[in-house]
Amino acid sequence: MIEEPSIAILPGDGIGPEVMDEAVALLKDIEEYDPSFSCEMTSFLWDSNYYLENGRMMPEDGLDQLRSFDAILFGAMGAAHVPDDVTVWEFIMPIRKNFQQYINYRPVKKLRGIQSPLINSDAVDFVIIRENAEGEYSNSGGKLYEYTEEAVAIQNTIMTEKGIKRAAQFAFEQAREKGVKLTNATKSNAVIHTMKFWDEVVERVSKEYKDVHYEKVYIDALAALFVQKPQSFGVVFASNLFGDILSDLGSALVGGLGVSPSANINPTGEFPSMFEPVHGSAPDIAGKGIANPMAQIWSTALMLEHLGRSDLHQLIINAIVKALAEGFKTKDLGGDHSTTEMGAAIRKYVVKQLQGAVV
Ligand code: ATP
Repeated sequence: MIEEPSIAILPGDGIGPEVMDEAVALLKDIEEYDPSFSCEMTSFLWDSNYYLENGRMMPEDGLDQLRSFDAILFGAMGAAHVPDDVTVWEFIMPIRKNFQQYINYRPVKKLRGIQSPLINSDAVDFVIIRENAEGEYSNSGGKLYEYTEEAVAIQNTIMTEKGIKRAAQFAFEQAREKGVKLTNATKSNAVIHTMKFWDEVVERVSKEYKDVHYEKVYIDALAALFVQKPQSFGVVFASNLFGDILSDLGSALVGGLGVSPSANINPTGEFPSMFEPVHGSAPDIAGKGIANPMAQIWSTALMLEHLGRSDLHQLIINAIVKALAEGFKTKDLGGDHSTTEMGAAIRKYVVKQLQGAVV
C-alpha cells in the first residue's frame, strides 16, 4: 500500500463533474472513517472550456504536472464545441501513451439488483484486458489524393513483439491469480499479418503459463458467445480495437454504461495509472442530476485496489450491491434516484462497513 497516495482528480465535461463529486465525497468519507487511509487529492479543471479559452486540452506542461501522482481519477471528456478526435488525441491518448498505460482493464460483472438483457445473467463475472498502447489505434496512416477520384486512405495497425508480450503477460498473470481461463480474441484467419503475429506472440507467452487454460476464439464467434455463454469466460485478452468493441458489449450485458468501470494501467508503476468510467460526458443528461455515479465510484474502487487496498475495493462493491438491494436506482437502471441520492446511499453502506457492520 502506498502511504497517503496522491491522486489527480480530472472531472472533465458533462456528467463527469457530477459523478466525480460523488467519488470524491466517498474518498473523503473513507478518510474520515478509516484511520489507516488518507490521500491527497488535487483537482485539475481541464475541460472543453479550457480548450475554448486556450486552444488546447491541457497546459503545455500538463503531462509533467500529472506525472508525479500515484493515480489519476478521470471523469469524462467531450462537448459539442470540441471535435471528438481532439478530446481523444489531445487528451486521453497522450495520457495513456505517455504514461505507458498499456493495459486497459474492464470488469464485466453482473451485480445483484441490476437488470440484464440476458435471460440468464447470473454469475457473469469476467474481465476484459485490452492492449491499450498500439495495434489498430496507433495513429499511423494518412490520405493521398484527397478530394479526387483517386483518393486513398491508409490506417496502419502496428503490433510489436514487445507490446503484445507485455500485455499478454499481464493478462496471463491475472488469469493465474483469479484461477480462470484466458480467451484470446483474434481474427487471424482473415487478418493474416498483424493478427497472426498477435496469436504467435500470445501463444509463446501461454507456454510460460502452462497452469492457465488457454483458448483462441475468433472475434465474431466470441461476440456471439458473450451473449450465449457469458458465464464461460474468465479473462478475455484482446487487441486495442477488438477490446474496445467487446467492452461495450460486455458492459451492455451487465447493466450498461452507467455501471461500467475501467482502468488504464501502467503495470510497471513508473507512471500513474488512470481510472475512469467507460461512459463519456453524456451531454443528453448533463446538468440534470440524474447520471448514475456507480461507474465512477466503481472506477474509484479499482483505483484503491491498484493502490494496494483491495479490502476497500471489496467494501465499495458490497456497498453498491446493498444500495441496489435497498432499491436505490438511477433512471438508467429503471429507478428515479438522483446522482447525489445514489452516491449518498453507497457512501452510507461504505461507512457502515468501516464502522464494523456487515452489509
Ligand atoms: P461522449 O461524446 O462524451 O462519449 P456520448 O453521448 O457519445 O458522449 P456517452 O456519454 O457514453 O456517449 O453516453 C451514451 C448514452 O449512455 C447516453 O444516452 C447517456 O445519457 C447514457 N449514459 C452514459 N453514462 C451514463 C450515466 N453515468 N448514467 C446514466 N446514463 C448514462
